[in-house]
Amino acid sequence: MEYEDTKCPKCGGTNIVEGKSNSYMKIQPLNKLYSSQSDIYVQFCKDCGHVINMRVGNPDIF
Ligand SMILES: [Zn+2]
Repeated sequence: MEYEDTKCPKCGGTNIVEGKSNSYMKIQPLNKLYSSQSDIYVQFCKDCGHVINMRVGNPDIF
C-alpha cells in the first residue's frame, strides 16, 4: 500500500510507513468468543511517530 501522498498532520513529514501488530496486539469480535483474530496494521510518521491511520487486516471475521 502506498502512502506517498499522505502528510503527517503533526510535523508535516511525508515519510509515512506501515507496520503490523505483533502477536500481542490482535483484534476480534466482542460477541464471538472463539472467533479468529485479525492483525492490526498501523501507518505512522517515521519522523515523529504520529499514528496516521490504523486498519484491521481481516474485517471479514466481524
Ligand atoms: Zn510526523
